[in-house]
Amino acid sequence: MAIYTCPGCGQQLDIPQPGLAACGHCRTQFHVQPLVAAQPIDPLHTPAEITVPLIISGVTNLLAGLAWTATCLGAIIGIPMLTLSIFEFRLYSKNGHIPAKKFSDSVGIIACFEIFAGFFNLISFVCAMVILLNRGKVR
Ligand SMILES: [Zn+2]
Repeated sequence: MAIYTCPGCGQQLDIPQPGLAACGHCRTQFHVQPLVAAQPIDPLHTPAEITVPLIISGVTNLLAGLAWTATCLGAIIGIPMLTLSIFEFRLYSKNGHIPAKKFSDSVGIIACFEIFAGFFNLISFVCAMVILLNRGKVR
C-alpha cells in the first residue's frame, strides 16, 4: 500500500499494488510504478548516534570552557575547550551537507580532542566514547 498522486486530478490515492490503476475520483487510468522495497540510505545523513553526542559534547565544552575561562588561571584550559566546542558546532552544522563518511572521519579527530577535554569535562569524554563506538556504523 502506497500513496500516489493521480495524474488526472491530483488526488492522493492509496494503491495496493503496482500495475494499471484507475482513479476513483476522475476515472483516469494510469500506470503505477513499483516502489523500491527499501529507501536507499541518504549518504549525506550521519546517524544520530554520532551527531547527538557531538552536539552534547559541544554544548558542555562551551559551558565548561566559559566557566574555566572565568577563572584567571583556568583560561589555559578554558580557551582550548571553547575552541574545541566551536569545531564541534561547525562539524555538527555540516551534517546533511557533507558525505557521512567524511563526517565520520572528521568526527574521529574531534573525538580524540574530546577525550583530552574529558579530563576537565566528563560529559565530553563519555560523548567521545559513544561517537567512537558508533563510527563503525558509517561506511
Ligand atoms: Zn483522479
